Amino acid sequence: STTVTLSGRTRIITVSNQKGGVGKTTTAVNLAAALAAVGARILVIDLDPQGNASTALGIPHGTDTPSVYDVLIDEFPLGEVIQTSPESDLLLCAPSTIHLAGAEIELVTQVAREYRMRTALEDYLKGVEDKPDFVIIDCPPSLGLLTINAFAAAEEVLIPIQCEYYALEGLSQLLGNVRMIQKHLNPALHVSTILLTMYDGRTRLAQQVAEEVRTHFTDEVLDTVIPRSVRVSEAPSFGQTVIAYDAQSAGAVAYREAAVEMITRHHRNEGEA
Ligand code: ADP
Ligand code: MG
Repeated sequence: STTVTLSGRTRIITVSNQKGGVGKTTTAVNLAAALAAVGARILVIDLDPQGNASTALGIPHGTDTPSVYDVLIDEFPLGEVIQTSPESDLLLCAPSTIHLAGAEIELVTQVAREYRMRTALEDYLKGVEDKPDFVIIDCPPSLGLLTINAFAAAEEVLIPIQCEYYALEGLSQLLGNVRMIQKHLNPALHVSTILLTMYDGRTRLAQQVAEEVRTHFTDEVLDTVIPRSVRVSEAPSFGQTVIAYDAQSAGAVAYREAAVEMITRHHRNEGEA
């Protein structure tokens, strides 16, 4: 199996795209599991009230579960809501519950409402002995205060792009939002990675979308492409990532390759810097 050298500094990555159904959650959990499979320690923060990332990681998230809602609204320490995925000791998750749907409104009147997650994460990383190599934040498909909290807490934005019609629709708006956050809330934020997902190489359309994205974003797009695969879409209903559900499937192989590529590219960029 592949092993990788990690930089020792926690990379905080938010998976974002204002479009729903483009593979944000799928990418967040499978990339997390793939990174854990190569020996990295991962914390997934589920900031989507739907809790799909928590489900896919096999993390209970019923209404009584301490969750990121408690962190954002009641200033619970992040460490108190974190659970370990049954898939791997290296795979941690701060779950979402349905309460988070109300947080969008409740946050409006709170002090430092944009920085709640950032502060909680900083406190956690300061105090914890086994620091994660990666924090991966799964966002809802809108630019509300939950997504803004993710943007304010992260350094990197990972954009999954579905290789279908209208793939690039909304992308300039997303990039505009990232620039706005850079300017006003978090100068360190930048789009580090674009991942093409649900790729069906048999269609001319998918090839065209991939070409177009690669032309616009030469440095950010990973060489690895995630194929459309039934195994990927089946896995969450078993409370599993595709890495655990079917390790040999094309989707699992692709997410592991993407994980390795994310690590090696980062090394290369740091070497250049
Ligand atoms: P988002 O979080 O952006 O709303 P999801 O990750 O929930 O998107 O994905 C939307 C749907 O597409 C889900 O039903 C998911 O199972 C499916 N899906 C995502 N990636 C793939 C893939 N590579 N192959 C097949 N289905 C996929
Ligand atoms: Mg989602």
